Amino acid sequence: MIQTTLYAGPYALVTCDFAELPEQVRRCPQDSCMVIGSDAKGDYCHKCGKSIVTVEGKKEVAKVNQAAVMAAVNNALYHRYVVRNGNQLLVSWTPADQKRKAPRNPTWSDNSPAFCEAITPTVIEEEVAWFREAYVAEIRTLAEKYGEVEVHWGMIAEVA
Ligand SMILES: [Zn+2]
Repeated sequence: MIQTTLYAGPYALVTCDFAELPEQVRRCPQDSCMVIGSDAKGDYCHKCGKSIVTVEGKKEVAKVNQAAVMAAVNNALYHRYVVRNGNQLLVSWTPADQKRKAPRNPTWSDNSPAFCEAITPTVIEEEVAWFREAYVAEIRTLAEKYGEVEVHWGMIAEVA
């Protein structure tokens, strides 16, 4: 089932670089087969029958682990939107602690009732100020992990 979520509210935006790590890759030696990684099951290529070989490869990993950051902030922030932007990873962190009551419910999903709401500049200013104050410790943790943190108010659409 497709689930659509729309988040409209304050969030912290961070970026991180990628690092290349060595990786053993199983593959068919014949490039045109494109049998590599999880496709290279068993001892022989299922397309050409040649023996599967193991080669040195590289895998790119984000220099900052998002799950580790979530643990560092005790799950009070959620990495709602993680996307590659050129050679960087762009991550949006949204408030996730239900005990810190947001001025307005920022999340709409398929199960929510329809609504229409005017978002004025005052609403945006108040919600950004609330987020900066209520999550000051977590935003500081993001700065320690990623470097620069930008706080924005915006919309994040997700289809899962
Ligand atoms: Zn092959």
